[in-house]
Amino acid sequence: MNILVINCGSSSIKTAIIDAETGVRAADVYIDGIGKTGCTLRVGRLVSALPADLDYNAALARIFTELELFEFAIDGVGHRVVHGGERFSQPTVIDAETEAAIEGLALLAPLHNPVGLAGIRTARRLLPDSLQVAVFDTAFHLTLPTHARAYALPKKLVKELGIRRYGFHGISHEYVAQRAAEHLRTDLHKLRLISCHLGNGCSVTAIEFGRSVETSMGMTPLEGLVMGTRCGDIDPGVILHLLRKCQLSVDDLDHLLNRSSGLLGMTGDNDMQAIEESAAQECESARLAIQIFTHRLRKYLGGYAAVMGGVDVIVFTGGIGENSALIRRKVAQRLDFLGARIDENRNRNMSIGESCQVSEFSTSDSPTRLLVVATDEERQIARRTAQVINHSRES
Ligand code: ADP
Repeated sequence: MNILVINCGSSSIKTAIIDAETGVRAADVYIDGIGKTGCTLRVGRLVSALPADLDYNAALARIFTELELFEFAIDGVGHRVVHGGERFSQPTVIDAETEAAIEGLALLAPLHNPVGLAGIRTARRLLPDSLQVAVFDTAFHLTLPTHARAYALPKKLVKELGIRRYGFHGISHEYVAQRAAEHLRTDLHKLRLISCHLGNGCSVTAIEFGRSVETSMGMTPLEGLVMGTRCGDIDPGVILHLLRKCQLSVDDLDHLLNRSSGLLGMTGDNDMQAIEESAAQECESARLAIQIFTHRLRKYLGGYAAVMGGVDVIVFTGGIGENSALIRRKVAQRLDFLGARIDENRNRNMSIGESCQVSEFSTSDSPTRLLVVATDEERQIARRTAQVINHSRES
């Protein structure tokens, strides 16, 4: 079944026509840097520059023009939607009501839901006969038990404002957990697994017997690990102090915590590869940033193992998790007490890519397995969309 997948980010649009069963891509069209100075179009491996003033709707129009050139028959369209709130626990066929509900959730994900909607509206207009399905990033975490999703705030306020932890990156966490179970030739429902998605945004999830039971991002994607430009966990008292001392507006504070903190705030660069290079040249702030990044993740690993009463598999994914042997080593060292023994050689020499999407870097006698799994959110969206289409054809 061929699915057109549309993944709209705040400044990028990734699209692909994917065979949901095999994962083979008939087309791959990507625009990055929308609204920034270096806007680029990638079709397959061909990269070209686009006008810097290209706005979001023009970028979407360009994507569809490129896709038309493939003259490919599609069976449906799958859209990534970041926030599904409490309502969407499963991929859902998009109709006017679903569209309105996604719009209503924009306040919880102001950077993401509006662009997701732009993709949905364009696709529904241009492909009116195709079944369109929304696949939600939050849905995988709706299994979080109450004690894991609640904040210790006054009951009345929590109820009135719907304050709770939702968690994000669910499409990726679900995909890599399934791939890890396939690799280990076991049923995901028999595993206690910790999935570490380390990209520009970073989150870690405890998956017990196939269900998300703890995750580091909260009501918004700001909580948890240190990220490219986001601070992650912080004492709320720091925010009060900043408000009192610096007379910041809400927007200033939002910008400070979401866009100029994390790796960028600590080193001046949000790119882990560049930070590793600086650290190798004795740059103290880069070294410290790597220590803080890995220390924070190690705390979560210990915490999540405690939550599940142990851990069978730890998975690394995302640009950093898949490519940085240094970060994996710093995170996975001294985890013997959890049963995870790193094989330094395997870790150093692994190469994850199209030809090798899953690789192991624990020693052969390690009771807890350490894996790297290349994430593929588009493929997971295609799979989940195909399931919805099959179901609607049967009923
Ligand atoms: P996004 O969340 O935008 O999809 P990615 O998953 O592509 O981001 O991850 C981007 C991050 O991965 C950047 O910090 C980048 O530096 C890092 N990265 C990519 N390759 C390497 C590498 N070889 N070593 C260290 N970090 C890397």
